[in-house]
Amino acid sequence: MFPRVILKGTMIKKSQQKKRTSPSNYKERFFVLDTQDLKYSERRPGKKPMLKGCIELSRIKCVEIVCTDVPIPCSFKYPFQVFHDSHYLYIFAPDNDCRQRWVRALKEETKYNNLVAKYHPNFWMEGKWRCCQQTEKLAAGCHVYDPEGCASKKPLPQLPDPETELQDLGQQWVIALQDYTAIGDDDLSLQKDQEYLLINSSHSDWWSVQDDRGCSGFVPCTYVAEKYGNNFERFEWYNKHINRGGAEDLLMKEGKEGAFMVRDSRHAGVYTVSVFTKAPGSNGEKNPRVKHYQIRQTETGRRAFYLAEKYLFSTIPELIHYHQHNAAGLITRLRHPVSQGIRCSQEAADLSKDQWEIVPEELNLGQELGSGQFGLVLEGRWRETRVAVKMIREECMSDDEFKEEAKVMMKLSHCKLVQLYGVCTQRSPMCLVFEFMENGCLSDYLRERKGRLSQNVMLGMCLDVSEGMSYLENSNFIHRDLAARNCLVSSDNEVKVSDFGMTRFVLDDQYTSSHGSKFPVKWSAPEVIKYSKFSSKSDVWSFGVLMWEVYNEGRLPYENRSNSEVVESLNKGLRLLKPRFAQDSVYVLMEWCWKEKPEDRPSFALLLHELASISDLTTS
Ligand code: ADP
Repeated sequence: MFPRVILKGTMIKKSQQKKRTSPSNYKERFFVLDTQDLKYSERRPGKKPMLKGCIELSRIKCVEIVCTDVPIPCSFKYPFQVFHDSHYLYIFAPDNDCRQRWVRALKEETKYNNLVAKYHPNFWMEGKWRCCQQTEKLAAGCHVYDPEGCASKKPLPQLPDPETELQDLGQQWVIALQDYTAIGDDDLSLQKDQEYLLINSSHSDWWSVQDDRGCSGFVPCTYVAEKYGNNFERFEWYNKHINRGGAEDLLMKEGKEGAFMVRDSRHAGVYTVSVFTKAPGSNGEKNPRVKHYQIRQTETGRRAFYLAEKYLFSTIPELIHYHQHNAAGLITRLRHPVSQGIRCSQEAADLSKDQWEIVPEELNLGQELGSGQFGLVLEGRWRETRVAVKMIREECMSDDEFKEEAKVMMKLSHCKLVQLYGVCTQRSPMCLVFEFMENGCLSDYLRERKGRLSQNVMLGMCLDVSEGMSYLENSNFIHRDLAARNCLVSSDNEVKVSDFGMTRFVLDDQYTSSHGSKFPVKWSAPEVIKYSKFSSKSDVWSFGVLMWEVYNEGRLPYENRSNSEVVESLNKGLRLLKPRFAQDSVYVLMEWCWKEKPEDRPSFALLLHELASISDLTTS
């Protein structure tokens, strides 16, 4: 079948500067996008067109406009980027409409690819990213990539008329709650936590603001919070006229883990966050229930707001935004805003219409393989493939959330990750279907082969895991519970990373709260224990502990010590000792993973590189 042409036209291409030293240049090229490739050729009068480049669409990881403040050194002024393999192609369109057409079409054709989770909105220039100042060209992006093309999940309404009359607001400042990338000439990009001068707030959806370089434009008003103010009417989580009972009724009716709202408290000028949870309480509280937290203010110094633990914010929307991403002392993170009138549950993922749904008739269940956090794990067969099936006990998992996330997790695909094939939601209990791993979990595997594993095999295991983790890091996906028990071993003794991201759906607070008895303190980085601050760098810490487990043939780290003793010795700067079988060069890497500050730890890409060099040295 021949590919179908989607778009074609002349644009300017900037050289890809594959070498650091090559000068950049701008050349006019004739671009053709078809259902298979993006091709560009040189067309000169009287000569046959010459194909200069061809990018298979399946290799593309991100397509987005470039928002920049630098002068564009060619006659076409509307840049966009195509990130493929490990190269950034910058293309310049003659006008904004043309650029939007290309970006939209390319996004449509690549939306099922293995895409980046974050991208760089500005140019790579003179050895650094202009958006985030990172100096590594392949450094993870700093801005969430939306393959559907819109900065927020909720489509934003039409921009207002730029000529709208100005109001006199005096000097009023707003703070950006999240990044926003401008999509046209009338709006302005926002950078999270930056302050902007408010120029006009008369429109219900778009406010006009000015940044510190004097550029002004519209921004979605839900992306900013007034620095000194309490006008929350525009946030979907705010319910002004609702009391405690009303809030409980509404949230119980919603019935979703983390459903929440902010309401006026009985005391004037005070606000309360009410949140629904199914998590079992420690004092025999009824279940499910609604918990109420009063938003408190600091009494001395600069005015600041806080909730359960003392994370301070200068505005209430900032505080809510933070807790939408971090439980940090709350019973659960604030997941679904609920307001009177609008119910949010309609948005719940309906996976049954999705290609990821596994129909029960195609799934045959066999013997038990083990049991874990979510329930039993059975061996099974799905479409002639041997699979492992996790049967999810209802009270163990926040399943609405999971179904939504499963779509992301199924897109993650790498030979060193245990593949999630699909989810069977039509059966009760719901089950997750995974690639089958004949040799079970890594910690058992190590213990069973004690005394029989060579250093090369151990190094190979660490390399496997670092490869899988490097892929997750690149995809901006945080594992959150990396340990030998969460890796599995295939029939040919290859180690693969499993259970990535799954802790977010566990409903047992003994497991999810850093003070809980089941929390994996011995694998957790200090910033995770102290502030629940997860990142790829906190995964790196856990990877160091996993290496230690491998080189100690599956021994438990800090075997005879309690969690609090471990925390105390980490605080004193003490670390796990060098395993007997680890070469010095391997222990150096472990110690590097256990640097106190996340930024001092290596990335997985670097660890992979270092481990590969040790492996080359020992095998050659
Ligand atoms: P959970 O994620 O619910 O905590 P685990 O991943 O710990 O469950 O699985 C429990 C046990 O089931 C593992 O120790 C392992 O023996 C077995 N198991 C899990 N996943 C697989 C798989 N993909 N292939 C083979 N066995 C598996």
